Amino acid sequence: MKQVLSIHRRGEGHWVGDGFPVHSIFSYHGLTTELTPFLLLDHAGPAQFEPSAKPRGVDWHPHRGFETVSIAYEGEVDHEDTAGNRGSIGRGDVQWMTAGAGVLHKEMHGHAYAKRGGRFEMLQLWVNLPADLKMTAPRYQTLLARDIPVVSLPENGGTVRVIAGEFSGASGPAKTFTPIQLLDVQLRAGQRLRLNLHDGYTAAFYLTEGSIKINAADNASETELVIFERAGDEVTIEAVTDANIFVMNGQPIDEPIVGHGPFVMNTQEQIAQAFVDLQHGKFGDIPN
Ligand code: MN
Repeated sequence: MKQVLSIHRRGEGHWVGDGFPVHSIFSYHGLTTELTPFLLLDHAGPAQFEPSAKPRGVDWHPHRGFETVSIAYEGEVDHEDTAGNRGSIGRGDVQWMTAGAGVLHKEMHGHAYAKRGGRFEMLQLWVNLPADLKMTAPRYQTLLARDIPVVSLPENGGTVRVIAGEFSGASGPAKTFTPIQLLDVQLRAGQRLRLNLHDGYTAAFYLTEGSIKINAADNASETELVIFERAGDEVTIEAVTDANIFVMNGQPIDEPIVGHGPFVMNTQEQIAQAFVDLQHGKFGDIPN
């Protein structure tokens, strides 16, 4: 069995640009050993946006040394980057961007969504890259809801959407550089689910909704982060109320983490180099 190591309340709220009212769930400023290869998790919303002719969002900004994974629950986001990639995600879709050696991108509400307004809720997870892949070429994957397998649980107990890795014979569509399992679990009140979260792997839950009992011992509820021990594999979840659980599970990358804003590298020198490279236009040209 994999035991609960600690349970955390979410941090303060802040805005990212004018489109993302986020709470920080964790970041590379703490718990890095416990959460590697996961660097940061932001929970945007749930919020209500009024109709707007001009889409809100966050304008051109850089990233280097890791991947950003955006999971849309409600609302729409358009992505564009200096590696020439574009994509749009809406309810149930996932965007997996490998910044690697570096890109500039912008993340804006979709035009149609901005015009009609409405509810908005997303998660953004940052996934680290091993030292020898931090300068890999940028890559972009749009993972549409229809391409994400949905495993139905017995007794109409809920569903497991497999974004990355495997669950119950289903494989997620995400290409990853290190072994990672990302699951989006909906569990109905009173139902149980057993997960194998792999001996030696990092494992964490974030609850976007509801409350659960873990291993018949620990309770966690909405907006809490649950971190598990690396040792052990099986975890049992019982839903106290209807619950939505974002499951993060991955092979640890036990290398130094030095982060500064949108850059996460292994040394201070590499962070300084990222700023130099940004000034010298090495993150690509913003399209007209
Ligand atoms: Mn970004």
